[in-house]
Amino acid sequence: TVPLELTLVVAATARDMGIGANGGLPWTGLRKEMAYFARVTKRGDGNAVIMGRKTWDSIPPKFRPLRGRLNVVISRSFAPGLPKDPADGPDASPVEASSLEMALEYLRRAKVDSAAESANSRGGRVFVIGGAQIYGAALRLVEARRVLLTRVVSDFSCDTFFPLALGTTSVAADKTADAPTWVQRSRAEHAAWIGEEVPDGVQTEGETQYEFQMWERV
Ligand code: NDP
Repeated sequence: TVPLELTLVVAATARDMGIGANGGLPWTGLRKEMAYFARVTKRGDGNAVIMGRKTWDSIPPKFRPLRGRLNVVISRSFAPGLPKDPADGPDASPVEASSLEMALEYLRRAKVDSAAESANSRGGRVFVIGGAQIYGAALRLVEARRVLLTRVVSDFSCDTFFPLALGTTSVAADKTADAPTWVQRSRAEHAAWIGEEVPDGVQTEGETQYEFQMWERV
């Protein structure tokens, strides 16, 4: 069978891969960047977003669960074992998993409504949307194949960091022999995978500059 494939989605500062400050995002007002995140994670049917409990808490209650995607939240306080189906349909409450491995096991076994051949039996894409602890857990798994990185060129002071340096020279690269190699894909490859054009070059919203990138493990 095709292994279930994980795509990490993150916005991180170019200088030091900063992703968070004081329990929230370091920046505000990146409306188009958030719209990109929403489109990409919703496109197609049956997608899932996996997040840590602190990231779930950081989402304003009126915006969660994130609409149009199966939300899976990971916390050590949740019951061990295979998560239960959410109570009121896929959009009403999140799936509660006690580990990332249990979240993936749930997605592998989850009810299929199409005859998709994917190892994710729900047929959709599986996105890991943070925060740092859950990105770290995901990057230790062979299933982590891809990172959709919004590289924030403007600098922000952060207290939470993406645990992998992608094109960032000021963060020491992992030099261990069996460490996977990550390569940046072309804009055309990126567009083909997300199913829409990728805005070219550095984008500006307010005073913040950023760039959309796709990296894959080789
Ligand atoms: P996480 O969102 O990764 O959540 C951490 C929690 O997840 C832990 O407290 C624990 O929950 C649970 N958890 C972690 N590891 C495990 C495990 N192995 N097994 C079971 N449960 C586990 O928190 P972070 O603090 O790392 O990141 C949050 C920050 O990241 C915020 O500032 C947020 O705004 C930012 N962020 C930024 C993003 C970006 O793209 N820039 C994207 C997402 C978040 P419990 O304590 O309940 O047991």
